Amino acid sequence: MKRPIVSEYLRKEMIRVNFNPNRLDSDVKKLYNKWSRERKKWDKWEKEERDKKYNQKIEDRDIERDIENEKIYFEIYNDLIEEMNNVTEWNIERPCKWDCECCSMRVVLTPKLKHFAKYVCNLCGRSNDWIPYPDLNDIDD
Ligand SMILES: [Zn+2]
Repeated sequence: MKRPIVSEYLRKEMIRVNFNPNRLDSDVKKLYNKWSRERKKWDKWEKEERDKKYNQKIEDRDIERDIENEKIYFEIYNDLIEEMNNVTEWNIERPCKWDCECCSMRVVLTPKLKHFAKYVCNLCGRSNDWIPYPDLNDIDD
C-alpha cells in the first residue's frame, strides 16, 4: 500500500483555513475527506504491518530459543545416558555434601589419571567426591 500524499492544492487550502477542515469550501472538503479516508486506511494498514513484523520477530526468537534449548536437553540426556552406562554401584550409603539430606550415592566410572570414578548423589544428582584408584590411595596430590 502506498502512503497517500496530500496534493499541493489541498495543502495550500488547508494552510488558508488554518488547518481547520470544517472551514474548507465544499469541493475542497470532498478532496480532504477522500485524502483523510485513505490516510486512515493507510495508518491502519501500516500499524498491522508493523504488528505483523513484530509478532514474526517474536515467533522467530521463540523458535530459535526452543532449538537452542533442545540442543542443551540433548546434551544433558546424552550425559545422563553416558553416566548411566558407567554406573558400577547404585546404592552406596554416604551423605551428600550438598545438604540435600540424601545418604545414597551411585559410583560412576570416570577414568582419569588420578581417580577412576566419582560418587553421584541419587537424590540431587550432583557429583560428590572423586574415588582414587585403589593403588593410588597412598600417594599425595
Ligand atoms: Zn544430593
